[in-house]
Amino acid sequence: MTDRFDIVVIGSGPGGYVAALEAARLGGRTALVEESPNLGGTCLNFGCIPSKALLASSHLLHEISEAKGLGVRVEGSATIDWAAVQKRKDSVLRRLRAGVKSLLEARGVVVLSGRGRLVGPGKVTVTDAKGAVAQIEASNAILAVGSEPVRLPGWPEDPSRVCTSDEALHWKDLPGNLLIVGGGVIGCEFACMMQAAGVKTTVVELMPEILPEMDESIGQTLRPIFAKRGIAFHLGTKVETLECNDAGCVARLSSGETVTADRVLVAVGRRPKTKDIGLETVGIAPSPRGFVPVDDRMQTSASGVYCIGDANGRCLLAHAASMHGVVAARNAMGQSASVDGVPIPGAVYTFPEAAGAGLTERQATEQGIPFAIGRFPIGHLGKAMAIDRTEGFAKVLRHRETGALLGVHMVGHNATECIALAVGLLHKKATVEEMGALAMAHPSISESLKEAAEDAFGAALHLPPKKAIRVVADAD
Ligand SMILES: Cc1cc2nc3c(=O)[nH]c(=O)nc-3n(C[C@H](O)[C@H](O)[C@H](O)COP(=O)(O)OP(=O)(O)OC[C@H]3O[C@@H](n4cnc5c(N)ncnc54)[C@H](O)[C@@H]3O)c2cc1C
Repeated sequence: MTDRFDIVVIGSGPGGYVAALEAARLGGRTALVEESPNLGGTCLNFGCIPSKALLASSHLLHEISEAKGLGVRVEGSATIDWAAVQKRKDSVLRRLRAGVKSLLEARGVVVLSGRGRLVGPGKVTVTDAKGAVAQIEASNAILAVGSEPVRLPGWPEDPSRVCTSDEALHWKDLPGNLLIVGGGVIGCEFACMMQAAGVKTTVVELMPEILPEMDESIGQTLRPIFAKRGIAFHLGTKVETLECNDAGCVARLSSGETVTADRVLVAVGRRPKTKDIGLETVGIAPSPRGFVPVDDRMQTSASGVYCIGDANGRCLLAHAASMHGVVAARNAMGQSASVDGVPIPGAVYTFPEAAGAGLTERQATEQGIPFAIGRFPIGHLGKAMAIDRTEGFAKVLRHRETGALLGVHMVGHNATECIALAVGLLHKKATVEEMGALAMAHPSISESLKEAAEDAFGAALHLPPKKAIRVVADAD
C-alpha cells in the first residue's frame, strides 16, 4: 500500500531536516528522504562542522605559537597530531548526527533511506541502496537536495592528489605542500587551517582579490595577514594546466609561473544536485546552472513543490537553507511565510575571522545609493589590546539621506559572533544613529561596531576629531 504524507522532504541537510521538523511541529505527517547513510547533509558531514572542528585545532596551534607575546613560555615545540585531530572531528560529527536523528524521532518524522525522485504531482519514489523502489504520496514536496563541489573537467581525476573539500576534510594525513585553486571562503578557511598545521600553502585566485563575494575591504585586510604567515597568493591568475604523477602535481599558471604541490584542493564553487530528481515530471525547468527557481515563499513553478537551500541557488549557506526550510514548511502547511527582508550574514572562520551583513560597498555603489562609511580599527579597542588580537576593522555603511543602516562588515577576533548585532539591526531596519546609541559591553570587540556607526555620522569619540564624512556615492 502506498504510504501518504502531508509533506515529503528530499534531503536531510540544514535545509531539509529543519523543514521536516517545522512541518511536523505544525502537525503535518512528514517523511524525510535521505540517500546518504548519514543525516545532516553537506553542513554536518562535508562542510560547516568538520571544517570548523579542524580549524579549531589549527587555531590552537597558531595561538600557542603566539603565546610568548602574552608572556607565556611554552617549553619545547607544540605539534599537531592530524590523526587525533580527525578522530576528534569525527566524534563531533557522530554526536551531531545523533542529535539530528533524535530530534526527528521526537517529532515523529518518518525517515526513509534512499534516493528520492519526483514522479509526478504528489508522487515520490524512494530507491534504497539495494535498488528496491518504494512509492509514497504527499500533498507537498520540499526539495532540499543541496549541492556538490565543482570538479574541473580535464584535470587529473586521482582524488588522493586532486581533491575537493569532500576529500580534504577527511584526509588521514597532511601534505607537505598544498595548492588551493580558489580563494573564496572555503579556499581561505583551508589555507588558514593548513598553513597553521605546518603545510606550505599556495592559493591561486582568478579574481583580483581573495574573498570576492565579501566586501572588498575584507580580502584586502586578510590577505596581507595570511601572506605574512607564509601563505603564497597568485591573484588575477588562472591555473592553465595541471599534471600529476607519483611525485606530485605541477600547475602552470596564466602568469607563466609554475607551482608544484603534493596535493591540490579545488575550491572553485559548487553546483546543485538537481539532476535526475524528476523536475520535468512536475513541469519545473531549472536554470542553465541547474538551480531550481523559487519565489520568496520558496515555491517553485509547480504547485505544492518547494525548493530550499543550496539547490535554489539564492544563497549557498547553511543558515539560509534552514531559514528557507522553515518558510517552505510553513507555506506547505497552509501558513504564509516569506524570506523577504531577512538579512543573511556571511562568515569566514579564518583567524582572524571576518563577517558581513547587508550591502557591500560595491553593491551600494552599483545601486546608486548615496552612502557614507564609518570605520573603526579593532586595534584601538581596549579588549583587542588586552587579549593581543589587534588585527582588523569594523565598517558601517549609512544611507546619507535617510540614515538607514545599509551594511556592516568586519575583520577581527570573534567577528562571526559580533555580526549578530548587525543582523538584528538590519532586520529591524534601524538607522545608524540608533546603532550608535546602543551600549556595548566593555571591554568587547563589539564596541568597534558602535564606534564605526558613530564614525559614519562624524560622532565617534574614540577617533580623532573628524575629517569630513567620506561621501562615496551621490544619488543622481
Ligand atoms: C567546506 C565547506 C564549508 C562550509 N562552511 C559553511 C559555514 O561555515 N557556514 C555556512 O553557513 N555554510 C557553510 N557551508 C555551506 C553549507 O554546507 C551549505 O550551504 C548547506 O549544507 C546547504 O544545505 P542544504 O540543506 O541546502 O543542502 P545539503 O547540506 O547539501 O544537504 C543535501 C542533502 O540531500 C541529500 N540528497 C541529495 N539528493 C538526494 C536525493 N535525490 N534523494 C535523497 N537525498 C538526497 C544529500 O545526500 C544531502 O544529505 C560550507 C560548505 C562547505 C563545502
